[in-house]
Amino acid sequence: MFVWPKGRARRLREAANRLSVRAFARLGPGSAGARDRCVAPLARYLDTARMKKTVSILPSVASLILLGGSVVAHSQSRAVPRAVVAQSPPRPSRRAKAFIDSTNQTLRRLTVKSATADWVKNTYITDDTERLAAAANDELLGFMSEAVKKAATFENLPMDPDTRRMLLLLRVSSPLAAPRDPALRLELTTLAAKLEGLYGKAKSCPPPAAGNLQNGGGGSSGGSSGPKDQKCLDIEALNVLFQKSHSEPELREAWLGWHRAARESRPLFTRFVELANQGAREIGFADTGLMWRSAYDMTPAAFEQETERLWQQVRPLYEQLHCYVRAQLAKAYGRDRVPPAGAIPAHLLGNMWAQEWGNIQSLVEPYQGQPTLDVSVALAAQKWDAVRMVRTGEAFFTSVGLDPLPSTFWERSMLLKPRDREVVCHASAWDVMMNDDLRIKMCIKPTEEDLITIHHELGHDYYFHAYFTLPALYQAGANDGFHEALGDALTLSITPQYLKGLGLLPAIPKDEKGLINVQMKEALAKVAFLPFGLLIDKWRWDVFAGKIKPADYNKAWWQLRRQYQGLEPPEPRTDEDFDPGAKYHIPANVPYTRYFLARLLQFQFHRALCRASGHTGPLHQCSIYGSKVAGTLLSKMMAMGASKPWPDALEALGGERQIDASALLEYFASLGAWLKEKNAVEKCGW
Ligand SMILES: [Zn+2]
Repeated sequence: MFVWPKGRARRLREAANRLSVRAFARLGPGSAGARDRCVAPLARYLDTARMKKTVSILPSVASLILLGGSVVAHSQSRAVPRAVVAQSPPRPSRRAKAFIDSTNQTLRRLTVKSATADWVKNTYITDDTERLAAAANDELLGFMSEAVKKAATFENLPMDPDTRRMLLLLRVSSPLAAPRDPALRLELTTLAAKLEGLYGKAKSCPPPAAGNLQNGGGGSSGGSSGPKDQKCLDIEALNVLFQKSHSEPELREAWLGWHRAARESRPLFTRFVELANQGAREIGFADTGLMWRSAYDMTPAAFEQETERLWQQVRPLYEQLHCYVRAQLAKAYGRDRVPPAGAIPAHLLGNMWAQEWGNIQSLVEPYQGQPTLDVSVALAAQKWDAVRMVRTGEAFFTSVGLDPLPSTFWERSMLLKPRDREVVCHASAWDVMMNDDLRIKMCIKPTEEDLITIHHELGHDYYFHAYFTLPALYQAGANDGFHEALGDALTLSITPQYLKGLGLLPAIPKDEKGLINVQMKEALAKVAFLPFGLLIDKWRWDVFAGKIKPADYNKAWWQLRRQYQGLEPPEPRTDEDFDPGAKYHIPANVPYTRYFLARLLQFQFHRALCRASGHTGPLHQCSIYGSKVAGTLLSKMMAMGASKPWPDALEALGGERQIDASALLEYFASLGAWLKEKNAVEKCGW
């Protein structure tokens, strides 16, 4: 793991720093093990998720401008409803085309300017570099704000399909549209900054007074806590606690405290929804959720149905995992705490949001004492350095026939944490000058996790490499799940065989027990996440559409948590609570469905490439290492960027036009069968 700043000043700086990156970026999913904190600007992918801490966000000028301007320069989510393209009439509007051409040019120029400043800031954090980066971001955002408004005025003009597509990409590129009215716009930007600020500053503290037992009962004060224990924990400390603690009272108190802190944001969020919707209406969308769902090359209603269809595909596997984990937790915490046929208390899954369960691996490991596949020991023993690790990653890509990294990659990347200055260590991938100026920025350590992250980040870089000649608005993944899914798909090829080939594993574990342990570890991250990845936006779509009224915010939230995840809160919730506000992406207004899609797409990509490469065994054993055929397909898909509807890109890879969760099921087939057998005595479901 990385070394994190200790001092508050440093933390604030990092927060501000990340914020300004985000100012013209959108969050994308994380890397393997990273999940939902990967920041994805136009030409940068920051895999912040590999750290187990959550970004603390402070309001800043940059955020105000972002939100005020309502635009993100660019992102991975792209779509044009096919019907719209199809009806493009005879006389193309020259004005629209000229507008888009000049937008692409200016966008590229300002993005390069901003990315350059941002790179310097990320690799040399000072007040000066932050100021320079913020100024460049502001300029970019100001431009984009104007461009989006102007794009709306061309809507009804005849134009060629590419212009039409890029106009839509421009319009849906931001998760937030601000109202035209300056007063309302200022109100919205202020609210947005406040919401992020509240989240960033939130802490889990003991209940305000001993007399207030509403949240303090039920053992919320553990044996060691007393009056002097007025210690408040920020989210970084809480993440560590959830990683390590198996003390129910301690986890309960931490969970309740963190969720109590979110209450304050409820009225702000309510107003935020109203104003965001007004902004969306002004650029032609009925509400903000509908604007988000318009970015997937199908009608918003069809997209909603797609997500539900995909969920139904994976639900049986999730229910089996839930069933097994519940039984193990009941052993660990007692059946009174974890009822055998009910929902699982949300604070016992090793994560504040119960979104990934990897931290409870030791409680649920199928075969205790079996060796795991950790190659960190070998990496350290063999003294692998950062360059060797990145060269190894590069060798993976060249083995499938892709180009070697440009020489500038080795000159300009930051692979190690410098000793003499402060930097942002979160792994990220960049094309700073949008001309194949590929780089990664990491503080590499000889660990398995970092080796996997390197492959993931290089996946982003090779995507950039494939499309850097396209117009700026097309320089993105086919939809917002694609970029992350691609990196993660490649990490699925880091199999025991591949690692053995690198001399990092002495032998390939052959027995079933080892396999089940490994698959359990992966499933706790990837399968457990699926319902969470879906429900965040299910809730928000209905909130933005007015189907969930403010009075029911929290009730509806827990209905979804129960229905999809099979979870319950550790203690009954009240109308005062605003538990959705305890998850970063809601106060920060970052769409979330992309993470759900990326989880499914990565397995689908993997399967398509494995089939093409001639692999015939079980999917979990496949590595596309060395397959030129796989590399050719990959290049073909990546080179399309966002220029075509995403089903076209998917088809280029493997002939399929629909997202299909069956690849994930196939990958986890062994675990799925094992779980069914194990759960035979249980009453699964909730
Ligand atoms: Zn990533």
